Amino acid sequence: MMEEKAVRIKQNFVRKYEEGFPLLLKEAVTNPAVLEEEGEILRIETEDGTFLGRGYYGEQNKGAGWILTGNEKEAVDQRLFEKKLMVALGRRTRFFEDENTTVFRVVNGEGDGLGGLIIDYYDGYYVIQWYSAGIYSFKKTIVDLVLNTTDAVGIYEKKRFSEEGGYVSDDDFVAGAPAGFPLPVKENGMVFATYLNDGAMTGIFIDQREIRKTLKEKYSKGKTVLNTFSYTGSFSVAAALGGAAATTSVDAANRSREKTEEQFRMNGIDPDEHRIIVDDVFQYYKRAVRRGESYDVVILDPPSFARTKKTTFRAAKDYGKLLKETIPVTNEGGTIIASTNHAGMTRKKFRAFIDEAFKETGHRYSIQESFSLPDDFLTDPAFPEGSYLKVYFIQKLS
Ligand code: SAH
Repeated sequence: MMEEKAVRIKQNFVRKYEEGFPLLLKEAVTNPAVLEEEGEILRIETEDGTFLGRGYYGEQNKGAGWILTGNEKEAVDQRLFEKKLMVALGRRTRFFEDENTTVFRVVNGEGDGLGGLIIDYYDGYYVIQWYSAGIYSFKKTIVDLVLNTTDAVGIYEKKRFSEEGGYVSDDDFVAGAPAGFPLPVKENGMVFATYLNDGAMTGIFIDQREIRKTLKEKYSKGKTVLNTFSYTGSFSVAAALGGAAATTSVDAANRSREKTEEQFRMNGIDPDEHRIIVDDVFQYYKRAVRRGESYDVVILDPPSFARTKKTTFRAAKDYGKLLKETIPVTNEGGTIIASTNHAGMTRKKFRAFIDEAFKETGHRYSIQESFSLPDDFLTDPAFPEGSYLKVYFIQKLS
């Protein structure tokens, strides 16, 4: 067990940490020079030595580490990780028991008191995401715990702590038995092909579960659906299964075509009956307008930042433009499903983008429903920034 280091918090930040703020911010520390080796245990205290919390040092874009306990008597050790993992597993009983959903989140970082660590369940396999070299230094402890406290068939990992904060490519298999790929997983009865050893992404974004369900059950029957930034086409599959009259998937990445065809086939749908277009969304809109195409439902789920050959998209700056170009290809009475996972975009700002886009294009709208993260993506009330997902179903009126 490593010695713990004392990290002192500036007076004007003390209140925040007393209230349970879990992230160690460098700017809040009076003695940042003590932060030397990632993974070292930190005792967070006031300038006069009063205990505030205990955690670890780990550099990620958000901050310099996470506080894992506010209990002075509790050490950051195997027992603490075990306790948190048991609680996290217990909170997901409903998911483990649901035969129609075999993919979900088991540990959601600070939402489960384990900042910097994400663990997802993929039908018997566990995928661990490490967000810093600091949390990665506990790898053996955490992997052993997952093997010993769950029914894990195998474990995969994603290291997300390169210089740029991106994915570190590697062989992602860690322990247990390797899976065969594609690994089919179920979400509310829909089937998705996943790949746990093929880069940073697995083929499905599981935080959109409620959106796919809602789209399928309430917005698809008999409708024409345009799925932009479609990736592997999971929304198109949901729409098709919900009885859509037609789906069109648009993504700039070449691989999206075969990936989308595969997801359709996994669900017994003939991909030839659906349109899959490899193109930049903004280019596609130009052609759609020229041809007078429009849709009953348009899904917008862009990344926070993306650069294609033709365009650069930054959600924080360009979401308004995206909406303005979407409104003309949406039928009157139709629905735009606007989603953003950009943590820096507040609900207020997102609503302002929506409002402005409709005003500027001369249309009225009403919000039909809105969503944030699903139940398995627990968030820490002391860290509202962790609740990054914002989705609005917007009806285009006259
Ligand atoms: N909505 C998807 C996830 C989107 S991931 C789902 O729920 O599964 C983001 C996708 O946007 C990537 O597949 C990327 O290739 C695509 N993309 C990024 N910029 C784009 C652009 N300008 N035009 C079309 N696709 C784009």
